[in-house]
Amino acid sequence: MSHRWAKSPPLFTGCVNCVFFLVRFETTRFGNPVMVLGKYRYNRWSYSKGPHVRWTCVKNMVGCRATIITMDNVIVRARNFHTHS
Ligand SMILES: [Zn+2]
Repeated sequence: MSHRWAKSPPLFTGCVNCVFFLVRFETTRFGNPVMVLGKYRYNRWSYSKGPHVRWTCVKNMVGCRATIITMDNVIVRARNFHTHS
């Protein structure tokens, strides 16, 4: 899935512009980076190389597929659909 995204031009899925300004970057008490977008939190998954960073919803383990791609802390791609509230 991520490979397909990597080869496609920047494309926003969902209303990323509506929530873009709400994004902020934080660090958990364990020292792990998290991104907060609206009411949702994302764990960081680093790409093997390059400036792109993939962020997956913290509910990923329970089936939520929402994913955000950032480059230099700017959202370049977003799949901001959650299976939970
Ligand atoms: Zn989610």
